[in-house]
Amino acid sequence: MKPSLARFCLLLFLILEIAISTALYFLYQAAPNQGWATLPTQQNISPILAAPITGLANHLRDIAIRIARHPQTIQALKSGDEQARQAQLDNIHMLYPEADIEWAPPTGNMTDKSFTPPLSVLYSVGEEHSLPVLRIAQPVIDTTSKAILGFVIIRQEGAELRSLFNALQLQNTYAELQQTNNGSPYNILLQRGDARLKANAFQTLTDLPGTAWRLVVWHTPPVFVSPLKTLLNPYFLVWAFISACLLSGLLAFYFSLRKVLAHDTNTLVTFFSDIRRSRLQKAYNVWLIDLEPNFRLIFQLGRLMLKKHKQVADSASLDHLSQVNNRRSLEEKLSELHKTLTEGWTHSLLIIDIDNFKHVNDTFGHDAGDALIIQIGKLLKEHLRSSDFIARLGGDEFCVIFPNTPLKRGAELAERLRNNLPAEIELTPGVTHRLLWSGGLSEFKKGDASENMILSRADTALLDAKRTGRNRTKLTA
Ligand code: GH3
Ligand code: MG
Repeated sequence: MKPSLARFCLLLFLILEIAISTALYFLYQAAPNQGWATLPTQQNISPILAAPITGLANHLRDIAIRIARHPQTIQALKSGDEQARQAQLDNIHMLYPEADIEWAPPTGNMTDKSFTPPLSVLYSVGEEHSLPVLRIAQPVIDTTSKAILGFVIIRQEGAELRSLFNALQLQNTYAELQQTNNGSPYNILLQRGDARLKANAFQTLTDLPGTAWRLVVWHTPPVFVSPLKTLLNPYFLVWAFISACLLSGLLAFYFSLRKVLAHDTNTLVTFFSDIRRSRLQKAYNVWLIDLEPNFRLIFQLGRLMLKKHKQVADSASLDHLSQVNNRRSLEEKLSELHKTLTEGWTHSLLIIDIDNFKHVNDTFGHDAGDALIIQIGKLLKEHLRSSDFIARLGGDEFCVIFPNTPLKRGAELAERLRNNLPAEIELTPGVTHRLLWSGGLSEFKKGDASENMILSRADTALLDAKRTGRNRTKLTA
């Protein structure tokens, strides 16, 4: 698959979106409930109530154990003396007003496997104020015989429990604190909430360790949370906001980058199209700074290429010696101008032939002849208008076309040329040659069957000039 800017942006969006979603999810999980998440349910009511009850039971048991193991308690019960027992009971009452000591029949000892300890936890609904009363019983054991001498019983009236129970925040929930005695059916100690929920709602039981109480909570089925409520969750809103910012940011990035790339690509297209037309601008504008060095190199190479191309094109159309147009270019020009005749244009053509050129060759050598040809090409370019077309026909013969020039005006221009060209030319250092030339001038004609006919007319005029003494220009209409 080829790389694409759109795919790259989409991938980047997905990666960032996953990262943000994961981060927000963990933040959401780690954050404490701040009021929007859940209502109290059976999952959080039970621990609220169970912990203080079992805590209280453990506390009472600790006291009972301490009393039951105290040597004076053991001694008082073992002696069987009612007075000693009462004295110890009074002592205990001084320290723990809620403690009580009861006798129990010797049903076994702690080493006997058949020994069944009596209920260590007893409880009842207090007759006064209908409060639950928590009673913890701890056996008093003879340290030597291991026989059970009796029980220490600690009672705690349930005002504290009741206020705790009453302070519970219950919504769509009904709760009961129940007790049982030795497998008998449970009876209700405390209750809160709408009892109608018992009929059809969910129920959870929580045993309260250290007591024979249990907490039963009824609650309505899980509430359907509307999607709107989910959407209004602050974490979701933050997620949606960040995602929207991310998406719009990446879209803006994608479109602006695409615009910049499109601009720079168009610059490149314009540049190559200018090369094709051989018309380069001074500078080309590149927007993306990262592409600038590469583009600068492309522009340099392009300019170099165009220069080379021009050189090649010139060498194909120029005469290598005189550096004016060659015969092939002349023929193209003749054909081009011939076509304009139908539009009413008229042009003149002059053939120039150096007088006594052979003499130069013969006297000073072929190189001197070449030098003369080179000089003539240079001089013609200097003294003719840039709109005039100059070509070398071959040997010492040159041709000049005066575009959009009638024969009469052409004759004037030919004469002006004759006057402007220098009288003598230095061929090689110290060797000069008197420059004389003959000319044949003619005019393009609409009726000419071919574009070369003007050449033969001008040639005829040239011959006439040679015949009549050279160093002159003859015209043929
Ligand atoms: P006229 O006055 O009648 O024009 O006679 P001319 O001596 O100039 O001789 P003509 O124009 O008839 O012939 C041109 C000569 O130029 C013939 C040929 O030997 C010579 N020639 C042709 N091409 C070149 C060239 O490239 N270099 C040199 N040095 N000589 C050339
Ligand atoms: Mg000649």
